[in-house]
Order: sequence, then structure tokens, then C-alpha cells
Amino acid sequence: MLALAGYPLGLQFRFFDPTPNAPAGQLAEQIVADYADQAALERFARGADVVTYEFENVPVETAQWLEQFAPVYPPPAALHTAQDRLNEKTLFQQLGLLTPPFAPVNTAQELQAAVEKIGLPAVLKTRRLGYDGKGQFVLKTPEDLAAAWQTLGGAPLVLESFVAFEREISVLAVRNREGATAFYPLVENQHAEGILRLSQPSGNSSLLQFSAEEFAQRILNSLNYVGLLAIEFFEKDGQLLANEMAPRVHNSGHWTIEGAETSQFENHLRAVLGWPLGPTHLRGHAAMLNLIGELPDVEQILAIPNAHLHLYGKTPRAGRKLGHITVREPEKEMMQSKLKLLQKIVEKGASVGGKP
Ligand code: AMP
Repeated sequence: MLALAGYPLGLQFRFFDPTPNAPAGQLAEQIVADYADQAALERFARGADVVTYEFENVPVETAQWLEQFAPVYPPPAALHTAQDRLNEKTLFQQLGLLTPPFAPVNTAQELQAAVEKIGLPAVLKTRRLGYDGKGQFVLKTPEDLAAAWQTLGGAPLVLESFVAFEREISVLAVRNREGATAFYPLVENQHAEGILRLSQPSGNSSLLQFSAEEFAQRILNSLNYVGLLAIEFFEKDGQLLANEMAPRVHNSGHWTIEGAETSQFENHLRAVLGWPLGPTHLRGHAAMLNLIGELPDVEQILAIPNAHLHLYGKTPRAGRKLGHITVREPEKEMMQSKLKLLQKIVEKGASVGGKP
């Protein structure tokens, strides 16, 4: 999607992905190699104006090594912070953002102590490599401790209080090489089984928007950040508790392709190239529905005017994000009705196995 946003701007791309036949490889040259393969990395980056990434588990050493060939944005230091939930939450705290109470856990004794300090219910999470709800265990009663430790023990962990939030919200912030910033309208996100299902730019109070932008600005400045940064919050009692951040274009911003004046992908490219940022305001009312595990009936989706289908060319697999649909309408009510219809089609596809 970054490349698709870049071609109209006259940009050219080369991709690096250890997995053969990655979706991006359908668009331009893909170098398939291990992240530690220095010769392959050099072939990938030599001659490039800039290197960027849209996967937050790229090893920090790889990102740093590539800096000898071209500027790498977002800065590898941001990647380093975002790859570890403890570092991330510690940064949030240092910058004065509210977070759910949390404590590091490395041993069964520390888990016991953390539960006593934080209370139950709580969520035990691996500090690294967790995504889409993987590497997480919800503890409801003291009896759950043993099972939680058995499932996740051994890896560095963090225990955090379970937040009975009213909503999950993300802010998409972008900062370019000159330090100019822009922010998209807050997005309301719905998850199921830890996986994002639905994102909608919300009609939030301007106070909440203001707080989120102010928090994001602190993070952008502290990391001397360049590119798009997504920060996920829990909204509770009118306050924003920071959950995590992603140093990349984000699934909760996919609606911006049709729903915002400049997409998150284009703005990320503008930012890393040192170009002026584009306006971030809404174009009508939009919502984005993820296609997870199975593909829906394409013709049924395309029969709905203003439903925009994006398929990523991935092989279907349970829990895998295969694509998304953004619906955009001038009137909110019409957008909501079409969204309901799309949800029905997508759910039906998922239960009966849609056509590819
Ligand atoms: P994460 O990988 O931290 O974004 O977690 C995935 C999803 O699990 C979140 O979007 C929430 O829906 C849920 N979740 C994670 N942490 C908590 C928490 N501390 N309290 C309540 N729900 C949580």
C-alpha cells in the first residue's frame, strides 16, 4: 500500500522480505533473504534515497546497519522502544502519559508480587513479538497464575491491569524530516480475539482529540521521529490510557486511502522523503472492515457502491488479515447502513468459506 501510494508521486520501490512471494513482490523487485544477510541487505539498500519499514519486528541491528547506505526512517531508536512493551510503557510514563498500571515480570515469584501490586483482573503479556492478541494471557482469579506462567513463563513479560475501557482509540501522527507534524482525526477501533476488526474515524470531543495530539507530539519529539506513528489508547472515564505504539503505517489508518484527503501511506512517504505533509482531514464519513481468515464473495462487495475492496494477495489462513474494505459516504447514516450490510456479507463469507 506504501508503493501504491508512491507510484503516482513518481517513486520507485524495492522490497526486502525474508518470506518468498510476499504480496509486495507482485509490484516490484523483492529481495528474499534473512535479516542478518549483509550482502543481501546491501543489494537492497544501495542506491536508495531512503529506507523505510512497515513491520515492527525488523531487527533493530538490521535497521541500524542499513543506515550506512541511506537514511532509515522511522529512526531505529523508535523501533527499539516500540519492540519492547516495557520500554514503550516506561517512555509513555516518562512523558507524562497515563497508562494502565504495569510491572515487569521475569520469574514466577515476580508474577505473584506483580499481581499483589496491580490486582486482578490483569493481562500478562510477552514484552516482545506479541501481536494481534498473541503472547497474552488474561488473569481473572489467583488460580489463573499457574496456567499463565506455564503458557508464557520463560520470556520477559509485563503484567498490566485489565482496563474495563469504554472504547479503544488510536491516533495516527506523522512527522517529516523538517519536524512538521500532522494528525488524523481519532479512530475508534473494535477488536475481537485480540485482532482489529473495525476502524472508524470517530466524532470525538475536540478535547480528546487535543489530548491525543498533544501526547503524540511529545512522543514524536522525544524520539526525533520521522514517518507515521500510531498510538493506541483505551478511553476510560474521559481519559486516554496509552496501550502501545506502532512505528509504521497502521491497520487502524487503512481507511485514510479513501476517507482522508491524504492517505497515511502517502503522508508516510512524504515524511520520510522530507516533503511537505498533505492535509489529513476527512472526506465524508468512512469505516474500514478487516477481512480476516477467509475471503468474502468479491462480487457481493463490489455490488455495493462506495465500498472499496483491497485484497493483499495473501493465502487465506485462520486469523490472517487478507484485505480490508473501506466504505465512504457523504451521509453518516448511509455509511452506517452500508457498513452493516458489508459486515453481514463478510461474516457469512467467513462462516461458509467465501470464494477467493
Ligand atoms: P495489544 O496487543 O496490547 O494491543 O492487545 C490486543 C487487544 O487486547 C487490545 O486491543 C485490547 O482489546 C486487548 N487488551 C490488551 N491489553 C489490555 C488491557 N490492559 N486491558 C483490557 N484489554 C486489553
